[in-house]
Amino acid sequence: MERTGHEPELGGVLRQNAVYVDETVCIGCGHCAYVARHTFFLEDEYGRARVVNQDGDSEPLIQEAIDTCPVDCIAWVSYQNLVRLESARAHQTIRNIGIVQTRKT
Ligand code: SF4
Repeated sequence: MERTGHEPELGGVLRQNAVYVDETVCIGCGHCAYVARHTFFLEDEYGRARVVNQDGDSEPLIQEAIDTCPVDCIAWVSYQNLVRLESARAHQTIRNIGIVQTRKT
């Protein structure tokens, strides 16, 4: 595999693709974070899933998390697309769907 220089620091030298959650579609059910807990977490502000570590779990376990998602909002993407998608996330509008968050104060 040829490296492009855009791979994240912890981003799977041997893996061809990165994993990405479309937070505008995610309903915050937490299944992915339960299945692949070293890869996904629920972010505090809107309670949607996000990838915390591209190398957190094995590829089959991440695939199991993808297959578990009830709204099909987790996808394998190229590292080039990951950079673009993560940049675009700053401008996304996330709907409040009434997820109750327990914040530490
Ligand atoms: S399984 Fe899908 S809908 Fe549920 S938290 Fe993960 S990404 Fe969101």
